[in-house]
Amino acid sequence: MQIYDVIIVGAGIAGLNAALNLPEEKKVLILCKENSWDCNTFYAQGGISVAVDENDVNLHIQDTINAGAGLCDKEAVKVLCGEGRSAVDSLIQKGFEFDKDDKGNLLYTKEAAHSKNRIVHAGGDATGRQVHLFLMQKNPHPLMYKTTVIDILQKNDLVYGVRIFHQGKFENIYAKNTIIASGGIGSLYEYHTNAKTVSADMQGLAIECGCELRDMEMTQFHPTVFVNTDKARKQLLSESLRGEGAFVINDKGERFLFDYDKRGELSPRDIVSRSIFDYKQKHKKDTIYLSFENFQREFFKNRFPTIYYNLKGLGFNLPEDRVPISPAFHYAMGGIKCDLDAKVDKYKNLYVIGEVANTRVHGANRLASNSLLEGLVFSRRAVRKILQKNYDFIHIEFDEKSEILFKPNDKILKSELRTLMWNNVGIVRTKKNLKLALDKVDSMISSDIGKLLKLRLLTSKAIIESAIKREKSLGAHYIKN
Ligand SMILES: Cc1cc2nc3c(=O)[nH]c(=O)nc-3n(C[C@H](O)[C@H](O)[C@H](O)COP(=O)(O)OP(=O)(O)OC[C@H]3O[C@@H](n4cnc5c(N)ncnc54)[C@H](O)[C@@H]3O)c2cc1C
Repeated sequence: MQIYDVIIVGAGIAGLNAALNLPEEKKVLILCKENSWDCNTFYAQGGISVAVDENDVNLHIQDTINAGAGLCDKEAVKVLCGEGRSAVDSLIQKGFEFDKDDKGNLLYTKEAAHSKNRIVHAGGDATGRQVHLFLMQKNPHPLMYKTTVIDILQKNDLVYGVRIFHQGKFENIYAKNTIIASGGIGSLYEYHTNAKTVSADMQGLAIECGCELRDMEMTQFHPTVFVNTDKARKQLLSESLRGEGAFVINDKGERFLFDYDKRGELSPRDIVSRSIFDYKQKHKKDTIYLSFENFQREFFKNRFPTIYYNLKGLGFNLPEDRVPISPAFHYAMGGIKCDLDAKVDKYKNLYVIGEVANTRVHGANRLASNSLLEGLVFSRRAVRKILQKNYDFIHIEFDEKSEILFKPNDKILKSELRTLMWNNVGIVRTKKNLKLALDKVDSMISSDIGKLLKLRLLTSKAIIESAIKREKSLGAHYIKN
């Protein structure tokens, strides 16, 4: 029987960058659901924020802490911003090409709440797709597709691997170290920008194992999303559009964000999302738009090719047409608690990296484009720790039991859950609605459901309970009494 040195659950930026940093001679296996590109990393548009030089590190730290609304762990932020440059440079040294000007200098753009231009990007607005492709091409280790992890094999203070469901069969896969890099929670919400594989299973499994989840109420809603499609994943209109001159307007073409915050379109995304939500309610407006009238067509097409062609496919002629927008769930600041080497407290050999992790690097609100950076920085730290660390590992075997993953009613309940989370645990929350949501989720958990829905429900419950506990608004968590 094969015992791997490391199993990595997830093939986004965090999982693949961990794989890239693990020596070829190590026995490593990467697991992912569906196809490898079906992850949030692939869809990331804006770019990766990084201190432009040593002098910018402190300002990047300060911007991150300001966005985090007092909940950031300063040491975690220092690690992110301090090690960010070398993590990005390491990609470049391995051959990755960010966009450059005619003289070969890296192009840096600006996004909301950054006090200077420090976002590197690739392929215009295709940063995630390009980084993902690059990491896949460089990956030296085997990757198993269409594989869902459905259990963590653990006993006392050690994890022995994972149980998977692959091609209709259950299998135990054993390893000396397990890294969870399974992304966020998008599928819990009716409107979201996330890949369909990102459905909070591993957070649910962590809860079942008794690991601590932290800051789960801190859910970020992106203000500019085209939601009028029947696809589960809604079309994001990147922050950098506003950074480079797009406006939010009402049906008469009037800008209104300055009535809410003096930074207008460049306010942090939670403020823009709530402003749109409030403006629509107060002024009884059905539709709010993003206007691109500041852009020249050729510039727009070259700088934002993904958005240009995606929206062309949906019938929009950019930059002339305005596009109806709505806020939608986008990013989870909360996750499985871990230390600055990405290790989970309860186990000697379990690590979490990327969006699924919580080091408090984002606090109560993530600064735009800090999450790809987080994936790069903390994957390297987890690998470093794994390669340094020695502990006694005596392999044990677990039962090869099968489980009921789906039950007939699950589809209806999943859809009800998404609506419930959107309406009751969304942009503006009230204690009453949160309590109603908790009762409803509890009753779904005790009904006749399959395991995968149960994991979603456990994570939803953790979000709702954290939201109820935090009685005052902070960062992305906004509660009205
Ligand atoms: C539309 C969009 C645009 C964005 N733009 C930016 C940006 O410009 N800059 C920025 O910094 N951030 C951006 N973000 C956020 C950023 O993309 C994500 O936070 C980041 O990519 C997460 O990377 P990850 O490796 O943690 O997870 P992901 O890339 O989401 O990968 C998760 C992986 O886990 C696997 N997985 C999940 N559950 C299981 C399971 N049970 N079993 C097996 N495998 C599993 C999935 O199959 C997938 O391979 C954006 C996000 C979205 C959705």
